[in-house]
Amino acid sequence: MSNLNGVIEEINRLRKEKNAVILAHNYQLPDVQDIADYVGDSLGLSQQAAKTEADIIVFCGVHFMAETASIISPDKKVLIPDHDAGCSLADTINLEKLKEWKEEHPEAVVVSYVNTSANVKSETDYCVTSSNAVQVVKAIPADKKILFLPDMFLGAYVKKVTGRDMEIWPGECHVHAGIKVKDIKAMKKEHPKADMIVHPECGCTTTYLYQSVENGNLPDDIKFLSTGGMIKHAIESEADEFIVATETGILHRMKKDNPDKTFIPANENAVCEYMKMITIEKVLKSLQEEVFEVKVPTGIAVKAKKSIDRMLEISPI
Ligand code: SF4
Repeated sequence: MSNLNGVIEEINRLRKEKNAVILAHNYQLPDVQDIADYVGDSLGLSQQAAKTEADIIVFCGVHFMAETASIISPDKKVLIPDHDAGCSLADTINLEKLKEWKEEHPEAVVVSYVNTSANVKSETDYCVTSSNAVQVVKAIPADKKILFLPDMFLGAYVKKVTGRDMEIWPGECHVHAGIKVKDIKAMKKEHPKADMIVHPECGCTTTYLYQSVENGNLPDDIKFLSTGGMIKHAIESEADEFIVATETGILHRMKKDNPDKTFIPANENAVCEYMKMITIEKVLKSLQEEVFEVKVPTGIAVKAKKSIDRMLEISPI
């Protein structure tokens, strides 16, 4: 038996014995996606965390996502296989910096992209994802000033589309500043028959969203789809080729489902090294030793959850 098969067998044995569920983000390594009970985007994973009957959640993603799972499911034991799997975008702001910013604008409403720590969410009025940020901001009374954080490209995009009075935190995801409109246009020229699909998760496509609006408007021939929508589209579309604008990890599932179709990353360097820190061996260690637990203190979790609930009231998933 190969070492990999041995690792998989042991993971399966422990998952059953400990009543654990393995959740993996779309940007995880292929081996990790293949062993997971559920693969999806950060909100999809949080929903799974909320409804699971498992006692242990092994969260294969980055730290803020595991914290979100802990906020939503406070009675579960949430483990992350590598404690250093952070997020450069979430790390651009912390509680102290946010409090200082709020003091400068005491009348403002705070809107945070989901890529933030639990501490930052606890001082946030509305949490948003890239797919519902415009809708949530539009629902905030028009006379209110907005502090938007931490993604400056998503913030600039929302400000442009809504025309709201908005201060924007200068944070960006260093990994994916690479997915640019000019590169996508060049790619489209090279593959004229390809379907162009974009998954608006994480910081990886927010530069693109912003530049598209700066250049006029979002092109009609580009489809913005959720993970489920992307997977469905790849199966149902008559196209043989697809240009995929997001972190390259998402291509694994699409290739698996459609072995006869070609999936081309819009930028093959769009790889999040934090996501790739989690290996299948670390998943096994996590289950064996029940490490590394991510537990958000109750007071913080209760406040942070309010910002997520407010988002869900405006934009149910
Ligand atoms: S892709 Fe960027 S925003 Fe997403 S987890 Fe990685 S560093 Fe953070």
